[in-house]
Amino acid sequence: MGIFARLADLYERMASAYAQTAAEAGLTCQGCQQNCCVSFFQHHTYVEWSYLWRGMNELPEERRALYLSRARDVVEQYRQALALGVQPSAMCPVNDDGLCGLYQHRLMICRLHGTRNTMLLPNGDRRVFTGCYRFVSNVTDMADETVPTLDRTELYKELVQLEMAYVGKRLAVLPKVNMTLAEMLLQGPPSIK
Ligand code: SF4
Repeated sequence: MGIFARLADLYERMASAYAQTAAEAGLTCQGCQQNCCVSFFQHHTYVEWSYLWRGMNELPEERRALYLSRARDVVEQYRQALALGVQPSAMCPVNDDGLCGLYQHRLMICRLHGTRNTMLLPNGDRRVFTGCYRFVSNVTDMADETVPTLDRTELYKELVQLEMAYVGKRLAVLPKVNMTLAEMLLQGPPSIK
């Protein structure tokens, strides 16, 4: 199985793990006034970045040009907000009226954001991501140990293995990826050669 096919398979399992945790907590995004797709978050792998661009290249030229022009605006909004010392909040450039225009190629964070997530770090520390405001309000009366929780650890390890398989030895010399989706679009597909 090729690397992108393995990534697509991993993405599917991430989405299933999310759906199960959300169902256990009675979480739905329907009618939500907030939208996770305005959140300011960075992504960290070349393989996700490349796969995102595979999705972009499958789009009609007009749609791709629209997303790129939006990405330019979004990156400028981020720059201005950060210059003012405030947390940026801007709609993702591939979000069309609440729907993801690159749904199949969306990145790991897009698939896991919303429910409580935990991740065991190599140093033994456990990071906890609380989940969105709706998730938190749904589980307020639950004892902490009974709160439905998505453990990202093994899913994340697999993503790291795919990244190493995709980039190979060059991973040690290439710049670390720490980019928003809008920046990944503006920069174009990554060069890992
Ligand atoms: S890629 Fe899709 S799911 Fe992720 S932030 Fe953008 S619109 Fe939302």
